[in-house]
Order: sequence, then C-alpha cells, then structure tokens
Amino acid sequence: MDVLFEAQFSTLADSGRVFSKCGKCLRYLKYISARPSRLYCGTCEEVYYLPQKGTIKLFKELTCPLDNFELLIISMPGPEGKSFPLCPYCYNSPPFEGIDTLFGGTQSGSSVKPGKGAGMPCSLCPHPTCRHSLVTQGVCACPECSGTLVLDPVSAPKWRLNCNKCNCFVMLPQGAHRIATTQERCSECDSAIIQVDFNKKTTPLEDGATLYVGCILCDELLHSLVEVKHGKSFFKGLGTRGRGRGTRRGGFRGRELPSGKRIDPKMSFRDF
Ligand SMILES: [Zn+2]
Ligand SMILES: [Zn+2]
Ligand SMILES: [Zn+2]
Ligand SMILES: [Zn+2]
Ligand SMILES: [Zn+2]
Repeated sequence: MDVLFEAQFSTLADSGRVFSKCGKCLRYLKYISARPSRLYCGTCEEVYYLPQKGTIKLFKELTCPLDNFELLIISMPGPEGKSFPLCPYCYNSPPFEGIDTLFGGTQSGSSVKPGKGAGMPCSLCPHPTCRHSLVTQGVCACPECSGTLVLDPVSAPKWRLNCNKCNCFVMLPQGAHRIATTQERCSECDSAIIQVDFNKKTTPLEDGATLYVGCILCDELLHSLVEVKHGKSFFKGLGTRGRGRGTRRGGFRGRELPSGKRIDPKMSFRDF
C-alpha cells in the first residue's frame, strides 16, 4: 500500500496539482508538493516558493489587490497552530523597497522568521490599501514581543488574533458570528477597533443585541471576553514583567508595553 501511495504521490508531484490562479496570465498555477514545495505557472514559466511547513488551501478565492494572484491560507499543524494568508507573488517578491529594514525588528527575540528568501505573508505586509495586510488586519501590539497581533481570517468560530512574529495568540469571543477589524483606532491605546457580531444565542449583550464595536484592551466587555495564550500553555500575566499571577484573562494593555529598545508596531501603523 505504501508503494502504491508513493507512486501516486510522485506522479502527482511530477505533474503538479492545479491549484490557484496566476495573477499575470489568469491561468492555474500548479502545486508541486515535493520539497521545496512551490507553485509553478506553465504559461509564465515562473516558480513561486511557498512556506515549507503547514497545509495550504485557497483563501476563499480572494485575490491580492496588488497583483491579482489568488490568495492562499497556510495553516500550521496542531490545534493551536496559526493560520495566515499569503499571496504567492508578494511572498516571493514583497512589493516594497526597503522591506528588509522594515523587518529589521524581527532579528532579535523572535522565534519565528518569515522563512527563507523574502517570505512575506500578508500578516507582515505593510501595504496600506490591501485589506489582508498587517496594516488592515493588525489589532494591537503583542504582549510578548515586538510583533503585532493580527486577526486570523479563517479562525471562526474560534476567533483569534495571532502574533505575526511569535507563538503568542489571543482568543477572541468564541462562537461569534463574525469578527472584523475596522479602520478606527482606539483613542486610548491606538489599537484597531474591532467589530463583533455575537451569536444570537450566546450574546452577552442586553436585549439579544449582537453587534458590538470596541477596543479589546480598553473596552470592559471585550476585555473580559478575550484570553491571551502563549504557545501551548496559558500565558501568565505579563511574563517577565511579572505583573500578574496565574492565568489572566486578557491581562495586558498595549500602552503598558515598554518602549525603548522595542519597536512599537503601532508606530508603523501610523507611519503608513
Ligand atoms: Zn502565469
Ligand atoms: Zn500579492
Ligand atoms: Zn497583501
Ligand atoms: Zn509576539
Ligand atoms: Zn484601547
């Protein structure tokens, strides 16, 4: 059986499986699963490398507004593995000059690197008009590192924010019908205001109302419904900064992050 499986597998790998659309010729790219896994456009004769970990799916047939390539979702293995969108084209050639300087912040204290080569997923993309980018999906500073917590677009109904640099993540109100970032910023802490459409049956709002807008750090209701997690275990207080004991629910505030040597990701929001 193994032999048969392998034979099928390598045939598939050789020919490649039709996968997502090329933004240049609008024909399908082929997915080549043999390492290094990549997409190949037979028409354009171009290769687009992919992250070598995780499973890859189409992202609702959405396309990158910059180059028209169909977006993909990479999901890391395990129940706590994070998912992030990426554009095959932008991932291989980030659409910005000086992107390396921008990512300079990842060099220290970061366990997750974008990968070999350019490797820019949308969660690191600073493009101001792409609605999948860090700028539009980022919510607030990571309590653990210099990264930014970014809305995981396919995490429903277990909605969450993932740090785009470390393993820290934040569970948002579970079972919500929809959660989205808005363009508004909190006047207190400059986090992105999020909109939550609670499930009718489980809404914490009075009179069965479901729509709610607020800052996850400053709004009491939202703050009480979020939970910070780090990697496989519960995130305890502010860790090294030792503010809390035991498991805290949402025990952090963006403003309390020390500045200084840390790069404040909120600054990059403003600058764009
Ligand atoms: Zn093509
Ligand atoms: Zn793109
Ligand atoms: Zn983008
Ligand atoms: Zn982090
Ligand atoms: Zn706030």
